[in-house]
Amino acid sequence: MSARPRIYLDYNATTPTDERVVEAMLPYFTSEFGNASSGHEFGLAAREAVERAREQVATLIGAEPNEIIFTGGATESNNLAIKGMTRARRTRSSSIVTCVTEHRAVLDPCARLEREGVSVTRIGVDRDGQLDMGELGNAITEETALVSIMHGNNETGVLHPLNEIGEACAERGVIFHTDATQTVGKLPVDVRASQAHLLSLSAHKMYGPKGVGALYVRRRNPRVKLMAELDGGGHERGLRSGTLNVPGIVGLGAAAELRQSEMAAEAVRLGALRDRLRDGLTGELDALVLNGGGDLLPNTLNIAFGFVDAQALLNAMEEVAVSTGSACSSAEPEPSHVLRAMGRDDESIQGSVRFSLGRETTSEEIELVIEKVVRLVRHLRSMSPLYEMHKSGQ
Ligand SMILES: *Cc1c(COP(=O)(O)O)cnc(C)c1O
Repeated sequence: MSARPRIYLDYNATTPTDERVVEAMLPYFTSEFGNASSGHEFGLAAREAVERAREQVATLIGAEPNEIIFTGGATESNNLAIKGMTRARRTRSSSIVTCVTEHRAVLDPCARLEREGVSVTRIGVDRDGQLDMGELGNAITEETALVSIMHGNNETGVLHPLNEIGEACAERGVIFHTDATQTVGKLPVDVRASQAHLLSLSAHKMYGPKGVGALYVRRRNPRVKLMAELDGGGHERGLRSGTLNVPGIVGLGAAAELRQSEMAAEAVRLGALRDRLRDGLTGELDALVLNGGGDLLPNTLNIAFGFVDAQALLNAMEEVAVSTGSACSSAEPEPSHVLRAMGRDDESIQGSVRFSLGRETTSEEIELVIEKVVRLVRHLRSMSPLYEMHKSGQ
């Protein structure tokens, strides 16, 4: 492997597993390897570990342990919530309201249901990435079965007002699902305060292992009914058949407990570093546009560098890991649907970079990144006739 110093500023894509989480997981690969469904001692040890994790996850989001269903990650949680809820209704008239800036793991299940005859309304956002509560209220009709609106946007860090959305849904008696993958473990999230009925989260976005997540499913007032995606052994109250990923679940639980005690201080620290990064860049460079306004995740900064190709910038500062406005959250390098929904043109999207900070980010790293980005953007612009025209036209 290369010995180059590496600065990782892509925590919204994934996080390293906390060493303390790995420690907690290790025994469940070897000595405590039992199947949580087995009736003997080995099974019991695994079952106890899973139930402890269920409590840890429930505590982090203000739920009851029996409202937590373990899944293979937030993509699966979103699919189970959206398809499971809609299919459990069995009425043709049910419709879904969601938002154009959702993660593909929400948009794609909605699109599949649409092809099956479910009507889907996708509300827009303004230039800041914020949705209009009036438009949301109007979109909810008699037919609406489900509203699915994310909490924090993975690309821009834009936060939607969860409690207000929950209230709008509660008033109209509509089930409310939220993809809170980017906020759980970073900011306080409470399923009672937000009146969410369904909430998705993922371990690997909060210093836990990849391939494990959870879906919160409300049990009271009302009890939410879902149709399972997988048929099999009836694990997880019949909602997620398959032998439980005990080490992964133990890791998710440990990560939840650590985030619970550390996230408040971490949010303050990362917010200050992110603000320094923003001010350092905007202070030195012109023709920058911030992507995302209003309430934001403390660790996220998405900036469009005018007259710069973000991919060229990335290539030039290869030891710094960030994301561009294209290929952000999907396997295909398409221009970001999130930035497009915010009214950005192709050029602006191509110049957009997402910096997402995390546990191991230091202020030395941020100073280095500011210096490097400023130098490289100036260099790239020095070769751009368009930038020269822009300058002389001022
Ligand atoms: C990462 C992410 C997902 C997908 O989570 P996986 O656990 O990787 O399936 C879904 N929604 C949002 C907002 C995300 O950031």
